[in-house]
Amino acid sequence: MQPVHIVGGGLAGCEAAWQVAARNVPVVLHEMRPVRMTAAHKTQALAELVCSNSFRSDERETNAVGLLHEEMRRLGSLVMRTGDANQVPAGGALAVDREGFAAAVTAALEAHPLITIAREEIALPPQDWDCVIVATGPLTSPALADNVRALTGETALAFFDAIAPIVHRDSIDMSVAWFQSRYDKAGPGGSGADYINCPLTREQYEAFVEALLAGDKAAFHEWEAATPYFDGCLPIEVMAERGRETLRHGPMKPFGLTNPHDPTVKAYAVVQLRQDNKLGTLFNMVGFQTKLKHGDQVRIFRTIPGLERAEFARLGGVHRNTFLNSPKLLDPTLRLKAMPRLRFAGQITGCEGYVESAAIGLLAGRFAAAERLGEPLMLPPPTTAHGALLGHITGGHVETIDAGPRSFQPMNVNFGLFPPLTRAPSRGPDGERLRGPAKAMAKKRAITSRALADLDRWLAGEAMLAAE
Ligand SMILES: Cc1cc2nc3c(=O)[nH]c(=O)nc-3n(C[C@H](O)[C@H](O)[C@H](O)COP(=O)(O)OP(=O)(O)OC[C@H]3O[C@@H](n4cnc5c(N)ncnc54)[C@H](O)[C@@H]3O)c2cc1C
Repeated sequence: MQPVHIVGGGLAGCEAAWQVAARNVPVVLHEMRPVRMTAAHKTQALAELVCSNSFRSDERETNAVGLLHEEMRRLGSLVMRTGDANQVPAGGALAVDREGFAAAVTAALEAHPLITIAREEIALPPQDWDCVIVATGPLTSPALADNVRALTGETALAFFDAIAPIVHRDSIDMSVAWFQSRYDKAGPGGSGADYINCPLTREQYEAFVEALLAGDKAAFHEWEAATPYFDGCLPIEVMAERGRETLRHGPMKPFGLTNPHDPTVKAYAVVQLRQDNKLGTLFNMVGFQTKLKHGDQVRIFRTIPGLERAEFARLGGVHRNTFLNSPKLLDPTLRLKAMPRLRFAGQITGCEGYVESAAIGLLAGRFAAAERLGEPLMLPPPTTAHGALLGHITGGHVETIDAGPRSFQPMNVNFGLFPPLTRAPSRGPDGERLRGPAKAMAKKRAITSRALADLDRWLAGEAMLAAE
């Protein structure tokens, strides 16, 4: 049987290789280190963790990444099995001994009779590789990035992500904020009331600008310094440094908006949030890309009227990354529409984080193996963490309704990516009416138990098909 070729032996590539080989399909895993290193990797080990050693929360009932851990365990993940075996104490988080973890993943793959490891850089997968998984990550080598860019017709692949914070819609106070598009313009695909607007008085605006200027900012990595900013993606604190009024004439301009809560008062400045996913559960803060440290973002953005209790699905950032405009370029099973023999996995598809990258590698591996074996490809249900993440990558995003930087951004798994419950729990086990945090917790529990039940049904369906 012809092998599946996997390019990149990071979190996604290693998990994909394991999943393919587990279905008795041979694999060649091509990893360029140590022949060519990246700017962040320090060793030649497969599945090297380039920064923190944490897989984040392991709490599966009320945390989306904890749920993803549990689903991966049920799907026979090598990354999770090895993470569990190399755990170090970290409270409710799953943190690992990074050297032990990477060494154990490397050893497991090297010992597998169906896996061959080739230490070489692949600039373009040769024509005769008919089933390829590209999992080369945020630091994809320039030669491959250039070739993928040419294949996709995109203008750029490696650039600064200008990431604006994303807020859970149900944490925005709509007794203060309101829905309206500037000048009520509908635009293509819009309704005329597509933005959530948060009004600031002059005093609130001035205090906000002061806080931005004083806020604690993250530094660039040395190797990021050479990558240019895109026009139109300046961090808000850099805009604020250019003049006290700059933001009020930029992303915070108040024009074309009327506050229905009090139409007689004109806002001095307005923060706008735009729908970020098809489900309408997440909204991004328009033009609010920032290098403020996460703690300061939460503290400062919660001073914005309407966002006092904002829960953030992700915080803003500006850093170097390489990822595809996946909703446009990939099909539902992660294949490049322009060249379906290439399937993508990991952070290059637009997920973020060690665990998410490995989870997408896991799915890509299962899809590639099924394709090789001539079996039907079954997508995970959208109610599972795997399905929610896949949905974000391949289809869950709304195109921007006005000109601006492209809006698809890498994301960690979070509850905003899951389809809402048909009936959210309103009463506790003793029949008491649920309110506030207890209600939010009950909702999360309902989403995670629905996810695990649906995952088990999906797995049983796959097992039945394989047995036929
Ligand atoms: C500096 C930095 C810090 C990060 N910190 C964290 C963090 O603390 N926590 C977190 O959860 N996530 C973090 N991330 C985000 C991300 O989730 C990880 O980078 C994750 O490792 C991505 O997994 P991956 O498999 O997609 O890519 P990687 O793990 O980077 O694996 C890609 C592999 O492909 C190889 N490769 C690249 N090009 C080629 C080629 N042409 N031919 C052959 N091999 C190639 C690379 O050498 C690498 O081994 C960080 C990212 C960066 C860049």
